[in-house]
Amino acid sequence: MTVRFVEHEKLNTCVHCGLCLAACPTYLELGTETDSPRGRIHLMRALEEGTLRPTPEVVRHLDLCLGCRACETACPSGVPYGSLIEAARPFVERHRSWARRLGRRALVTLLTTRAGRKVAFGPLRLVAGRRALGRLASRLPGRWLALAAAVAQTANGGPLPTAVDPPGRARGTAALLTGCVAESVFPATNLATARLLAHAGVRVLVPPRQGCCGALALHLGAAARARALARKAARELAATGADWVVSNAAGCGAALRDYDHLLPEDAHAVSVARRARDALELLAELGLPPPGRQLAARVAVHDPCHLAHGQGVRAAPRALLAAIPGVRLVELEEADTCCGSAGTYNLTEPAMADRLLARKIERIAASGADVVAAANPGCLLQIRAGVIARRLHVAVEHPIDLLATAHGVS
Ligand code: SF4
Ligand code: SF4
Repeated sequence: MTVRFVEHEKLNTCVHCGLCLAACPTYLELGTETDSPRGRIHLMRALEEGTLRPTPEVVRHLDLCLGCRACETACPSGVPYGSLIEAARPFVERHRSWARRLGRRALVTLLTTRAGRKVAFGPLRLVAGRRALGRLASRLPGRWLALAAAVAQTANGGPLPTAVDPPGRARGTAALLTGCVAESVFPATNLATARLLAHAGVRVLVPPRQGCCGALALHLGAAARARALARKAARELAATGADWVVSNAAGCGAALRDYDHLLPEDAHAVSVARRARDALELLAELGLPPPGRQLAARVAVHDPCHLAHGQGVRAAPRALLAAIPGVRLVELEEADTCCGSAGTYNLTEPAMADRLLARKIERIAASGADVVAAANPGCLLQIRAGVIARRLHVAVEHPIDLLATAHGVS
């Protein structure tokens, strides 16, 4: 049988039990079967079999999927939902109006090229950290300004050193993926990641020409562009010969782990997938010396989808943060439910992203936390924008930055 975009066997693993429905953020919000994992699998199967045309309404239900993979965690039958929706996106892309296609391609170029990022993030200095502007922007239709105002004022940074050495004999070597958005918006977190790894005894290498990992392009259905970016990043990262390939951005880390599926014929990509680790996961595994500084705060941990559902990392950030003197972890209801950021989702689907953000902010307010820790750049900006709009006195930080402060390496 001809395959249009995904193998039937993968689609047929779904037994329609519906156990994933309660985990799906869009189903929780809308309560409609076609906006649930089971409903979307049904749509994808009909598209694949040619019994359904990709009408704007069908495309709409698939576009509303966050790609958060919470349904994968909930599914007892092991349905690989993430790879199904990933395969469907480029197919759907071909059936959009030319104007929408053009807009989405422009977004891919803007975010995944160095020149594009200069244009997109260059004016950040003017708006970064301006909370009043952020509050105003949260009432406007576009989301770019509100997210830009959520960037820390200290976000400007030069390139990282190409190597960071541990104080004594190295326990191993890590190649650090600096990421496209993270490199532009969170350079201090990248530097803190390298220093913390060195503090744990790891030699850190930072290949300067690695570029973007391809995750954002894949999310926007630009599969060829994603593969080209992944091929280049894999070549640069694998050339270091490092024991681990480390990322501090959940979305990028999940993409690295999946390189062997994206580029099965590419030896570099397969090797990177085998060595890919989240920075917090590796730090928890290797262990850090006792933190020298206290951090008196009630900390709630938000689990980014691509860390919890995409990589199965949940315990590491909690264990590392709990070891900081003065930190009290508080429970956050629906900690692993998407905040609405989801790659570029808050830019392309702002209405649903806002609903999910409001849901997240309600739960943060109820937790009584002073600090929310979120290990993904997109979640940090999205939740910060929500906190600013709601005038909550809650700091939103990457766990790496909290750890770097506690360990005196920031
Ligand atoms: S990936 Fe997330 S939004 Fe999409 S169907 Fe699964 S749970 Fe729902
Ligand atoms: S995806 Fe899994 S949990 Fe959801 S309906 Fe299909 S088999 Fe059941």
